[in-house]
Amino acid sequence: MIADNLASVTHHIGEAARKTGRNPDSVRLIVVSKQVPSEKIIEAYQAGAKCFGENKVQEAVSKTDEINANDISWHFIGHLQKNKIKFLDSRFDLIHSVDSLSLAEKISAYCEDQNQKQDVLLQVNISGEEAKFGMTPSELEEQLPSFGQLKGIRVQGLMTIPPQDPDAENSRQYFSALREMRDKCQAMNIEGIDLKELSMGMTNDYPIAVEEGATLVRVGTAIFGQR
Ligand SMILES: *Cc1c(COP(=O)(O)O)cnc(C)c1O
Repeated sequence: MIADNLASVTHHIGEAARKTGRNPDSVRLIVVSKQVPSEKIIEAYQAGAKCFGENKVQEAVSKTDEINANDISWHFIGHLQKNKIKFLDSRFDLIHSVDSLSLAEKISAYCEDQNQKQDVLLQVNISGEEAKFGMTPSELEEQLPSFGQLKGIRVQGLMTIPPQDPDAENSRQYFSALREMRDKCQAMNIEGIDLKELSMGMTNDYPIAVEEGATLVRVGTAIFGQR
């Protein structure tokens, strides 16, 4: 069943990409495995999934220890508390959810100390919802040069989570706004900043995110079922 779900999501990503003249290979599926037991993650892995997203540090650390396949890429997609940075080590190929300059500074300092460089995305609260993590678009623009100065991280792109809405079409405006924000920031040509990645789209709205330029979609429920 997981294999069928995975095939179906991959198919929908391909369809949405082709519909808008994009190469399906330009979109990576991050299989969100939060709250999912390791057996099911392994089942998805054996069905071809190679990239998994976790949102809680402790849970992620124990799963990455347990499922020790070296062709798996683990991504961190949840809110990261500063006191947990030390647990990340180099477990995660990408942190999608850097939501403030002060967090980025702490991650960078830690990584410099370890002689590592961490790839990150900057989370933008593009809808302006009060309860959401993420920088405002104006904070992002103002602070981007400072992010570019940090030696222990590499900023690779932007991430957003639109407001929950049963009608996926309502997410489109936020996805296109994030893409436009990216294009605007990219045109500023800031040293140390290359915003090639756009992480947006979840179970409910990932085909629309792909139509709007997502390079990373984060999909859990459509693959593993309801958590
Ligand atoms: C849980 C989660 C997802 C996946 O959500 P689904 O609706 O299950 O696909 C994606 N991104 C983030 C940040 C999440 O926390």
